[in-house]
Formats: sequence, C-alpha cells, structure tokens
Amino acid sequence: MNNMDKIVNLCKQYGFVFPGSEIYDGFANTWDFGPVGVELKNNIKKAWWKRFVQEDKNTYGVDAAILMNPKVWEASGHVSSFSDPKMDCKKCKQRFRADNLIEEYSNGTVAAEGMTNEEMEKYISDNNIKCPNCGGTNWSEIKQFKLMFETSRGTVEGNKDTVYLRPETCQGEYVNYVNVLRTSRTKVPFAIAQIGKSFRNEITPGNFLFRTIEFEQMELQKFCHEKDGMNFFNDYKKRALDFIIDLGLDKDKLRYHDHDKLAHYAKAACDIQYKFPIGWEELNGIHHRGTWDLSRHGEFSGKKLEYQDPDTNEKYIPNVIEYSIGADRLTLAILCEAYEVEKLDNDTREVMHFNPSIAPYKVAVLPLVKKYHKEKADEIYDLLSSEFMCTYDETGSIGKRYRRQDVIGTPFCITVDDDTLNNNTVTIRDRDTMNQITLDIKDAILYVKEKIEFR
Ligand code: ATP
Repeated sequence: MNNMDKIVNLCKQYGFVFPGSEIYDGFANTWDFGPVGVELKNNIKKAWWKRFVQEDKNTYGVDAAILMNPKVWEASGHVSSFSDPKMDCKKCKQRFRADNLIEEYSNGTVAAEGMTNEEMEKYISDNNIKCPNCGGTNWSEIKQFKLMFETSRGTVEGNKDTVYLRPETCQGEYVNYVNVLRTSRTKVPFAIAQIGKSFRNEITPGNFLFRTIEFEQMELQKFCHEKDGMNFFNDYKKRALDFIIDLGLDKDKLRYHDHDKLAHYAKAACDIQYKFPIGWEELNGIHHRGTWDLSRHGEFSGKKLEYQDPDTNEKYIPNVIEYSIGADRLTLAILCEAYEVEKLDNDTREVMHFNPSIAPYKVAVLPLVKKYHKEKADEIYDLLSSEFMCTYDETGSIGKRYRRQDVIGTPFCITVDDDTLNNNTVTIRDRDTMNQITLDIKDAILYVKEKIEFR
C-alpha cells in the first residue's frame, strides 16, 4: 500500500474524512470531513485567518455569496474561456487533460499551459504519448471542456436563468472592492481576504483531497499601485512559504515554481509546490494580475472602480496581487507530512505529528481507573473543554488509549489518578517525546495554552 492509500484508510478509520454519500456507495470525488477532520481543517483555516487577516491591519475579511450575478463570470472571462483541453482515449474511453499528458510525459520540462490545441495534438502524436490507463495511442481530437457547474434560478419553468456555482472565490473580493474601501475607511494599498467554497467540474479529479469538484479556498487580493506590485508579489511569495513551514510542512519538500508563460494580462505568477506522495504538485498560487480584474468589472458593470489617491490626487485602477491556497489540499499536505509509523523498542506506533496549534484535539482526558477516577476526570474535562478542544477516553489500558490519541495527533494526554484526587495534580504525557510531567491542574491549563498558540 502506498503512503497516499495509507492516509486515505487512516482518515476513514479514525474520523478525519469519509467518502461523500457513503451509504449510497459514495459520490465520486466528494469527501465529508468527520469529527476529527473538521477540527483539523477548521484549525488550519483559523491559523490562516490569524496570520493574514487578524495580524495584518491592512487586510479585511468578507464572506461573499456563492451564487453571483452571471455577468461577473462574463467579465472575468470564465464564461468564454474557463475550460481545460480534454482528450479521450478511443480504446478505453478514459478522459484526460491534454496539458497534463504532456507535462507528465516531459517530466514538467514542457509547459503545455501556453500551447494551442493544435500544438498539443502535434506534440502528443510526434512523441507517441500513450494512454496512462490502457497504453493505447488512438486519441480523439482535443476539445475544450467547460469547468463551471451550471444551475438555474427562477420560479417559472421554461423561463429560468443560468447561474453558476463560483469556480473561484476571488470574484467576491473584486465586486466588493469599493464597499470595503468605503466602509473600512482605508487607503490603497489594502487587501480583502475570504475563505469559502469553490466548485469545478474537473476532468481528472482524484488523489483524495488533492483535486475534488468542490473545495475550499483561502485567498486574498491585495489592491495596490502599479509601482508597488512586484514588491507585494515577492512579499506574498515569502509570507505564503513561511506560513506553511510554520504550520509544519518540511521546507525541503517545498519549492517555488515560477511560471514562464503568463496570461496576457498577468505580470508574474508563481506556485508553491509540495512533494506529495504523488509527486511535486501545486499547493498554492501567487499571481500578479495587473489591472485586469478591476478594469473588466468596471467595464461590464459600468461602475467607476478607479481610485483617487487622497494625498497625490492621482487617479488609477489598482493592480491586484492574488494569493490563493486550497484548504483541503493544504489539509492533505499536513496529513501526509504529519504521518509517521514510528519504531519503538519492541513495538511500532502510528502517530500524527501535527503542530499542536492545528491538532484536532489539544488534550485527551483519561481516568486511570474508571471506577475511581471518572468523576474527577469529568470535572477536569468540563474545566479544560471551556478553554480548548478536548476528548475523553475511559476504555482499555492506558497504553492503548495513548496509541488511539497518537494516531489522531492529540499533543497531550492528561491522566487522572489518585494523586489528582489527593493533591489536584495531573500527569501530562507529550505525544512526540512520550515523556510525562506532573503539574497542578491550573498550571496544566497554562502549560497547554502556551503550547497550542499559533505564531
Ligand atoms: P491546478 O493547476 O492544480 O488545477 P489551479 O492553478 O487551477 O490549480 P487556482 O485556480 O490558482 O488553481 O486555485 C488556487 C488553489 O486552489 C490551488 O493552488 C489549490 O490549492 C486549490 N485548488 C484548485 N483547484 C482545486 C481542486 N479541484 N481541488 C482542490 N483544491 C483545488
């Protein structure tokens, strides 16, 4: 079993992530976060918000509607061109993205993103690229496959309007640029941030949470003067990398991937890639989008989105620097990074070495002997759970209970024993070192609080 399969199984077994609609045999490429997984993902989102919104006085949050006026998607270019080049294998009928076939074949040395359909067809035929599923080489011609999910709005049958499930969250920031500027009484440069769901009818979803048809994005748009654009771009490249290292990703498994070919309006673009068990893949993107977004929305809405600098009176359309990271994809990276099968003296243990700040439960409260210590343990659980997320386990040997917490990444186990009844002290066992210390309950709370802060 490869590492990704192990992670998928572990996630199902311990309540991180279940297949979507499982009792109906699932619904391909949808996943439901379970009781442990939802805590992990929420903590990742909270850490992102803390770092990029709470601690940055020039960034403001929004939570925009998923269904937007369809004109938004005309202005953004999605209606005309948000599609991927699809190719069908005529032998096994499997569908692939032509650009992915080329990139995989060339080991990433050929950037198919900037090629026309004809150029991609020629490359695939010249190099006799085979179907990854059946080895065939009888390909259909490339067709553009639209990635936006459509639905309809209206109460009268036959007279409904097409609306789209948003394929990216950032349009919510562009359409609120003026609202935020006005109500926050801020000045350019400033940023608007959002965390929310996006939907894409992906041709090749898969690899667990890596590519799904419904996912969450954490992203922000920095509105700035053209002269500051590259500085902010480089600044977010660094801050984006620092953030994921601080969350616990190994810096040797992270790298920048600067784009050679850019969209016609873009001035620079860079992905940060992580070495997933499936190989080096994009984890997040940082894009210098020039004035494209606000110019287009100004044009299509007929509203004035020009900014007048209150100090210099200069009028201009702000440039936009975008930083976007998938919450689900990052959760997957964190799961892959944290997982270890650790050899002990006479045993092995499965352990998730999550940074304590994002661990699903911070503390497990364990009464040593249920009969004698349950009442006190309940009391301590009530005390601790008003401070942070806790779990409770009273069944099985203490060793087995430690193992159950290790595999879901609980950084601290607090054992309640006779000393707790007599002196109000508890034993705290550390997940990673497995060392134990004894503390007064009040000090134990402070000890845990100190360790679970995200900085
Ligand atoms: P990719 O090249 O992997 O399709 P993209 O360049 O289209 O990604 P963006 O539109 O820049 O991605 O989206 C920003 C981030 O959102 C990505 O870096 C990724 O973390 C996440 N993301 C995008 N598509 C998906 C998806 N289908 N499933 C899960 N996460 C996604």
